[in-house]
Amino acid sequence: MKEKQVIVRFAPSPTGYLHVGGARTAVFNWLFAQKMNGKFILRIEDTDVERSTDASIQGILEGLTWLGITWDEGPYYQSHFIEEHKRAAQKLLESGHAYKCFCTREELERKREEAMGRRTSVLYDGTCRRLSPEEIARKEAQGLPYTIRLKVPRGEGAVRFEDLVYGSIEKKYRDIEDFVIVRSNGQPLYVLGNAVDDIRDGITHVIRGQDHLANTPKQILIYRALGAPIPRFAHMSLTLDSKKAKISKRRHGERVSVNFYKEHGFLPWAFVNFLALLGWSTPDSKQIFTREELIEAFSFEGVSKSNSVFDLRQDDPKFFTDPKAVSINAHYLRTMPVEEIEPYVRRELERAGLWDPAYEGPRREWFLRTVELIRARYHFTTDFATLGRAYFSDDYPLDPKPLKKNLLKHEGLKTWMPELAAELEALEVFDEQSLETTIRSRAQVLGIKAGVLINAMRTVLTGQAAGPGIFDILLTLGRQRVVERLRKVPTLFEHPEEAANDQQAPVERTKPKAHTSH
Ligand code: GLU
Repeated sequence: MKEKQVIVRFAPSPTGYLHVGGARTAVFNWLFAQKMNGKFILRIEDTDVERSTDASIQGILEGLTWLGITWDEGPYYQSHFIEEHKRAAQKLLESGHAYKCFCTREELERKREEAMGRRTSVLYDGTCRRLSPEEIARKEAQGLPYTIRLKVPRGEGAVRFEDLVYGSIEKKYRDIEDFVIVRSNGQPLYVLGNAVDDIRDGITHVIRGQDHLANTPKQILIYRALGAPIPRFAHMSLTLDSKKAKISKRRHGERVSVNFYKEHGFLPWAFVNFLALLGWSTPDSKQIFTREELIEAFSFEGVSKSNSVFDLRQDDPKFFTDPKAVSINAHYLRTMPVEEIEPYVRRELERAGLWDPAYEGPRREWFLRTVELIRARYHFTTDFATLGRAYFSDDYPLDPKPLKKNLLKHEGLKTWMPELAAELEALEVFDEQSLETTIRSRAQVLGIKAGVLINAMRTVLTGQAAGPGIFDILLTLGRQRVVERLRKVPTLFEHPEEAANDQQAPVERTKPKAHTSH
């Protein structure tokens, strides 16, 4: 028999931006669809009109597009199917799987309080389930409002299903009340609409957040009552911060939004790779995956039931997010073919007003070589325009600490640097060998270590204490810029406070501390 095609969906509610938890659910759906040669549908659950916004829908579409999570169908909008949800409820009434409930809110509230007082079940007692057709007709004729409730089977049985992550789940019928599927104002409830949409779309695997696990038994009852095949379910554990608090906009602000990572120098695939590792792993704990490898390796067996930790580093001024995300991003940034990160570097330089069209023309070779050289220490694409500014502009700030330590502390450098500049200017050839000879013999003449000259030069030329080897720096910047910058050194001694320009000098980040697993 031919296997049924796998069909999955990502069904975000557009009530905020695409947050990392939602994006992770999208990634798992997408990976599974790719792996199974299946179909991935995007379905926007926008029936909560009070909270849904167009801006949020845009944000979700943009976030997914940035991540490279492509969908085969959609976006569909749940709000377009409300009539269909109502028809499903009607069908359930007609087939005897649902009934009209005329109990008023006050009555229900009173019964609930009484039950609480008696310490008995507070679930709906089924009063209207027992109404005769005549009583129903009479109440309807009076124009009494009613909700529609699903008739949950009575007796000893239970709803049972095998969740692909949580395993066997069982919920006894007696613990499920006849729940409302349509409100008294005629609005279908989410639990119904969501199931009806999944049936229509032929969803074979419902992959979603663990917060929906509690809805599942009810939804299975709806599937059964509608005579529809029941999909497989896979619930994903929650993502918490390092203090075990739920990740939320209120607590963590922008950092929970995928867009934040786009704006803060993440490469999309690096972020997908990181998201996939939130609650999923391979037996060998592999960390870096190409797209093909990730699709190949993904399985629900590797998905953890325990909550995953996204360490947002709220209190860490240097690293604004999970160190693991940072190190994965740095890995890609430093090892991807340089042509592949070129568009991202370009975007950052453009944003900082540092892009020169010659970088895609006559200076392209220089540009790519420079990117290759400086990226070795970078973590974020934004670093090219901040830490790397001195390579793309003559207007760059100097980090005050190394400025003091490597330059201003040595009074002699005030004259030695311009002298060196003159020497470099006069060199017949400006290559590594002649540069090395010049610097070393100058140090010898001055009776100082070559390192004193080298550290001062690196600081003056790049604004940073650390970076590529000095000869690489000199050759990359080129003779003219080197000479000009070294000539300006006396001014730095006279006005050190101005050296940092108006901009704050970016501080090179040290390697983040490893993430301790929980
Ligand atoms: N709209 C729901 C949410 O954003 C998803 C429900 C589902 O996937 O079934 O949490």
